[in-house]
Amino acid sequence: MKSLKQYNRDLKTACSRSDRCAGCGTYIGMGTADRKCERCAPTERVLYGTRKDNEDWQEEIISTNPAVFDKAKAWAKEQGFDRFRIDEIDLSTPPDFTKAIQ
Ligand SMILES: [Zn+2]
Repeated sequence: MKSLKQYNRDLKTACSRSDRCAGCGTYIGMGTADRKCERCAPTERVLYGTRKDNEDWQEEIISTNPAVFDKAKAWAKEQGFDRFRIDEIDLSTPPDFTKAIQ
């Protein structure tokens, strides 16, 4: 029989691989190994995809939910997307719009 300490350690390991924030343990739903809650990781991950016949700059946002990136990618492939890119947007600093204005 496992000790309570061992049980808790196993639980923590299992959770960090699935549905809890790697930083604080907050429940955040099914995710990947290094997933963190918004408080611990103030970045938003965005999955972009580009359709087969389109140019690189014509990429479209596929998903902003890292937990479903794999599924979204599989779906997008069926829709004709053949290039993918994951970008992290830092939400802790406001976007610098002056760079956008030429
Ligand atoms: Zn957290």
